[in-house]
Amino acid sequence: MNDFLTIIGAGLAGSEAAWQAAERGVPVVLYEMRSVKRTAAHKTDNCAELVCSNSLGNNLPHSAPFILKEELRSFNSIIISSADTHSVPAGSALAVDRELFSREITEKISNHPLITLKREEVVSIPSPGPVIIATGPLTSPKLSEDISQMIGQEYLYFYDALSPIVDANTIDYDKAFFASRYGKGEADYLNCPMNEKQYYDFIRELNNAEKVPLASFEKPVYFEGCMPIEVLAERGPKTLSFGPLKPVGLTDPRTGKTPYAVVQLRKENKESSAYNLVGFQTKLTYPEQKRIIRMIPGLEEVEIFRFGAIHRNTFINTPSLLSNELELKINPGTYFAGQITGVEGYVESASMGLLASLSATAKISGKDYVPPPRDTALGALINYLTASGTKNFQPMNINFGLFWVREMKIRDKKVRNQNISKNALQQLQNWRHEIKDCIGSAAY
Ligand SMILES: Cc1cc2nc3c(=O)[nH]c(=O)nc-3n(C[C@H](O)[C@H](O)[C@H](O)COP(=O)(O)OP(=O)(O)OC[C@H]3O[C@@H](n4cnc5c(N)ncnc54)[C@H](O)[C@@H]3O)c2cc1C
Repeated sequence: MNDFLTIIGAGLAGSEAAWQAAERGVPVVLYEMRSVKRTAAHKTDNCAELVCSNSLGNNLPHSAPFILKEELRSFNSIIISSADTHSVPAGSALAVDRELFSREITEKISNHPLITLKREEVVSIPSPGPVIIATGPLTSPKLSEDISQMIGQEYLYFYDALSPIVDANTIDYDKAFFASRYGKGEADYLNCPMNEKQYYDFIRELNNAEKVPLASFEKPVYFEGCMPIEVLAERGPKTLSFGPLKPVGLTDPRTGKTPYAVVQLRKENKESSAYNLVGFQTKLTYPEQKRIIRMIPGLEEVEIFRFGAIHRNTFINTPSLLSNELELKINPGTYFAGQITGVEGYVESASMGLLASLSATAKISGKDYVPPPRDTALGALINYLTASGTKNFQPMNINFGLFWVREMKIRDKKVRNQNISKNALQQLQNWRHEIKDCIGSAAY
């Protein structure tokens, strides 16, 4: 085992990981291929380039993305402190001047006495470790091949097809009913019934809704099983009612009849605080998703935890492969961080950079490390990544449905979220205190 840390990829996760380790006195060799080899989305050679939107998401107190940012702020995150410094007005979001943001990070990383930034493509996982693989959704093909050799081809994915996830507390249970098809097994599905008029109104609006244009490198190679709903709707007005919205085997207890069509929702977590819309992967714009989903009976007031998406994305089956320290179970000393672990979003990616860095730093100093508790935002993400089912594992952004919550019965959403937020920040402080001896003290 080396007494320095190797990190591959100087994106959001890799830059954060390098900064955190170096600030704790651990020497870092950070590899970044841009300037030698481009990705299909990045435009500059800067570290932590934002490939698309310049927004790092909601910054409103008591929102889940805000809690995550606050937790990163408490670790003096290079990503969040640079974002705060170079923020531009954007309502409740933390948006940045992307050029100043990533230029500052590049300068800090390049000038840090303990970080050596090497501009080259890594084509095989370096050994010995510790090494953090933070090469993101556009990991170069040669390294992808090496990763798949190490972990097994079936554990590495190149696309995600996400269905929207909604807040269980905002569903109208006077309209939606629990049942499984033909009454088989437990009544695990929540069903939103549509009559004929509601169904055809829904199809008309779906056909008219605004879609996200595909990036040039995102060829629409949909698998039949994860076809976007809007593409299915284009095939004919009845396609959805014979596909993901088929009502067969379901009887609405309020009418005693089979509805014309049914949108099924499946539990997203054990606490039943979140549900996903089965078969609803989509490339509609976010405002249009909200509008279309709120046309569904029972979901008129629903809050969306995660929007649907379909995009090019290299990620691994983390629940099968990584420990809750983000370390590869079959090859200790190899860590993964960022979007490749199955988180979704800039700040979530940086968060996994922080956590992988803390784990690897503890390993270098021979100390035991304890991951953050589940009622913090960082711990909620780690728990999602490492304790989810392995079968249909899909990327996820931070949302309240992931937090472990002591008191589930508070109906007032605002009060509930304030409680989760207050508790999360308190638990984070306790956890920082608990781990301070094993991760060393940073220069802050
Ligand atoms: C097209 C696209 C648009 C996105 N838009 C958004 C958005 O608007 N908002 C949002 O929150 N999230 C967005 N995401 C998701 C995600 O948040 C970003 O991709 C984020 O940059 C992920 O951070 P990361 O550190 O994991 O990867 P990256 O930031 O991509 O960093 C990975 C780095 O590794 C380097 N690299 C790759 N292979 C090698 C190699 N073999 N050797 C050396 N270096 C290598 C790359 O050049 C890159 O710099 C988008 C993703 C994609 C693909």
